[in-house]
Amino acid sequence: MKLITGKKENKVFVGVLDSTERKVLAVSHTDSMVDCIAKGEEFLQEIHEKIKAASEEDYFQIEEVTLLSPITNPPKNIICVGKNYVDHAIEMGSKEDIPEHIMVFSKAPTTIIGPADLIKNHLSITKQLDYEGELAIVIGKKGTNIKIEEALSYCFGYTIVNDVTARDLQEKHKQFFLGKSLDTSCPMGPFLVHKESIGNPNSLQIETRVNGEVRQSSNTKHFIFSVEEIISTISKGMTLEPGDVIATGTPAGVGKGFKPPRFLKPGDQIEITIEGIGTLTNKVSLEI
Ligand code: MG
Repeated sequence: MKLITGKKENKVFVGVLDSTERKVLAVSHTDSMVDCIAKGEEFLQEIHEKIKAASEEDYFQIEEVTLLSPITNPPKNIICVGKNYVDHAIEMGSKEDIPEHIMVFSKAPTTIIGPADLIKNHLSITKQLDYEGELAIVIGKKGTNIKIEEALSYCFGYTIVNDVTARDLQEKHKQFFLGKSLDTSCPMGPFLVHKESIGNPNSLQIETRVNGEVRQSSNTKHFIFSVEEIISTISKGMTLEPGDVIATGTPAGVGKGFKPPRFLKPGDQIEITIEGIGTLTNKVSLEI
């Protein structure tokens, strides 16, 4: 089951795709997927009832809908795992950079943009804008000190995030927050896929293309820390809430990893495809 947050005639709604993925049915007229997820089982029940009661004409063609980020208002910052693939840890430094414990930082929620929205080039602030294709976990229910064996029951589903990073700011200010939090630096979507449609999240193909050229090609089976370990570790002493988004880290092939580096330029198009979810496509703005 693939869910969207969409806008049609200035009304924001939560919808579900049909099996062709060409049509959308509105399942809730709240503008907040987070509120829907927080209803738990009741929300899933509502979706099934809406689908059952719907006739052909209740569906919109997907082209008639502007897709927004599936999660527009997470309860806290977007939580991000750093260096969760060995090859990426090495391209960012050396073997010494392979973490022993999960590395965690965050992005301000004001970074979130939807599929097809423009990533601002921020040329007056950074000369090293970079892409990071990532699988993102969306939390489904509140929990603290979650056991690894129960971790997936706290997950609602998965989406795609581009953890856009200003490398020069990341280095200059030491702490990652600023370099990771420029406005528009968290493209997300296009769909939020319910966990039951995904199977094993630790075995999904992930690919990032810049202007059609493959830059990152890996599989989440190469995670250093699994989805279960990530949820369990982050929840130790910190309450996870419905709608929290956790980006799971990026594989090798970021712009900084090339010699010489290949940072993003105005007009570049970044496409991130994850098996079972879809493709997130955004362009870097031409204007500052
Ligand atoms: Mg990242």
